[in-house]
Amino acid sequence: MIADSLKSHVLAAARASSKDPEPSELDPERLAGVARGLEEAVFRVHGSGDGGGGYKGQLRMLAGALKHADGVAADLLRGSLDPLDMAKADSRALAPASVRAQAEELERRKRQELEAWEKLAGQGGGASVYKSAGTVCPSCGGFGAMVHNVLSGGTYAQERVQIQKFVCDHCGSTWRNE
Ligand SMILES: [Zn+2]
Repeated sequence: MIADSLKSHVLAAARASSKDPEPSELDPERLAGVARGLEEAVFRVHGSGDGGGGYKGQLRMLAGALKHADGVAADLLRGSLDPLDMAKADSRALAPASVRAQAEELERRKRQELEAWEKLAGQGGGASVYKSAGTVCPSCGGFGAMVHNVLSGGTYAQERVQIQKFVCDHCGSTWRNE
């Protein structure tokens, strides 16, 4: 399982840099050796105790994390990462840089949207307001709402988020677009 993931990593990394993988990088014995080292480390950390459940779970997670082109596999194969540290790491620590950056970007955006929304909800006003006759209120089912648009966030365009707040014409309840 781990050796397969390492192989996937070598192929993915080669693809990412538009190169053919070196035969030595794909040497099955080398990959199997590294995999065995890691499996032993995981067994040492998780193997005893709870019937091996932690051992299998950690191996599954590692098998997934090792596949990525820009993931932890490169460090493991290079020998700059201690298998014991990998055996102890959680999924967040094992995530490749690109996945981690994506998750952080998503979190940042969510936080920003929430801030903008809270501000807008508090003020009850926005940068632009227009009437939307076709909008259906989720509370009363009535047609027609005022739409408040607000552009909020950072200095750069890609950091800004647009938030829309709807106010029902009939019951006055408010909601936001998603
Ligand atoms: Zn309503």
